[in-house]
Amino acid sequence: MVYENPDGVRIGLEVHVQLNKLNTKLFCGCSTKYHDSEPNTHVCPVCLGLPGSLPVINEKAVEYAMKIGLALNCSIVEQTQFHRKNYYYPDLPKGFQTTQYDFPIAGEGKIVIEGEDGERVIGITRAHMEEDPGRLQHMGSIDKSKGTLINYNRSGMTLVEIVSEPDMRSPKEARRYLDKLRSILDYLDVFDGDLEGAMRVDANVSVFMGERVEVKNISSFKGAERALLYEIMRQKNHIRRGGEITLETRHFDEARGVTLSMRTKETENDYRYFPEPDLVPLRVADRVPEILKTLPELPDAKRERFVKEYGIIDMHARALTTEIKVADFYEDVAAKVDPKAAAVWVADILKGELNYRDLSINAFSVEDIVAIIELVTSDKITEQSGVEIIRTVRDNGGKPLDIVKEKGLLKVADDIVATAVEEAIAENPEAVTDFHAGKEKSMNFLVGKVMQKTKGRADAREAREKLIAKLNE
Ligand SMILES: [Zn+2]
Repeated sequence: MVYENPDGVRIGLEVHVQLNKLNTKLFCGCSTKYHDSEPNTHVCPVCLGLPGSLPVINEKAVEYAMKIGLALNCSIVEQTQFHRKNYYYPDLPKGFQTTQYDFPIAGEGKIVIEGEDGERVIGITRAHMEEDPGRLQHMGSIDKSKGTLINYNRSGMTLVEIVSEPDMRSPKEARRYLDKLRSILDYLDVFDGDLEGAMRVDANVSVFMGERVEVKNISSFKGAERALLYEIMRQKNHIRRGGEITLETRHFDEARGVTLSMRTKETENDYRYFPEPDLVPLRVADRVPEILKTLPELPDAKRERFVKEYGIIDMHARALTTEIKVADFYEDVAAKVDPKAAAVWVADILKGELNYRDLSINAFSVEDIVAIIELVTSDKITEQSGVEIIRTVRDNGGKPLDIVKEKGLLKVADDIVATAVEEAIAENPEAVTDFHAGKEKSMNFLVGKVMQKTKGRADAREAREKLIAKLNE
């Protein structure tokens, strides 16, 4: 099925990734562990841009940025350089942001996503390094705020801005792109995506190939999808009423789920970029081979390997490789039990149970799931009991084998099920007549009777098969 994109939607995303796993900021020695600190306690003359202070580049930050560029299949520039982007805004006390302009560290690349109609390649325009400004906290909503507070702890944190081509055709594709990007960054271990402000999104949106509108400062992926849905609808309605879409910047009000006009879009000329005189150009191309060696196996490659090595279906391989933690967990389990059974239990059942409780895979142990899978595959307990054990371990703790004993979950022997089947048939002649008359519900009733007689330890599917066989004798 080919996706026709009826509204001619084009979406491009600019994602700011904060490299919060670095110990120090981009140009100074201030600690990056500010998330639980009082406002304005992680600052120095350099990250506040006080007169006379001089920036010194954080080498580790350059290495991380190159890693990101290479993982996104980008070309790495020979020599990179920082520029001053001049504008005055209270989150930036020095009046300019140190960023990269015409020599971004990473050039064109790509990310492959699951699009509306199968795999789709989204172009990466560039990825560059810059410093994070401070954080404005409006008292109330942005348009009715009584005042604004500024916290400079974030000022000078390393950001890598990843700019995509306007290749996405729907909010769903944009969401998939963000998920994939997050997955790749997790694999690289360059940031902790759960920390506040770790990934911030600006979106460029247009419909019917018209003028684009920029929606700024979206702080969550769910927010991105909602903001895009709203903005596409707004533009379509505006055009339908005879209006025209002009270049503009809008703000997404997360609480109300609407975008609000902020200002007409500035052009690059408004910023008066010029080379940062306090930082010399940086030769980076020579370091590519050494950094390539540090790249881990990335999600797509891991998925392909899982299919080949473990013989599991692509859908499972995909579910298992989205998160590096889940992939590692799976491989530990697959080393001990049948990899295909492991895929079903980890990807379908365990992940489902944990997602439902909003828990990560680390909340369960490899040892426990291995024990459960062994019990099920050796036919000692039913699949249903396996799921029950997972829930019990999560809610009350304990070891699977003990829970089996405590709850009496060991599957009953075949002859006990056979006896229960015979009894159920003998004791319920009406249901038997109904079954022969084609009334499906009577079968459920009989299965229920068998389960009752075996205290729920028979396998329901097996009981049904035995009942049908017996009734058709
Ligand atoms: Zn500092």
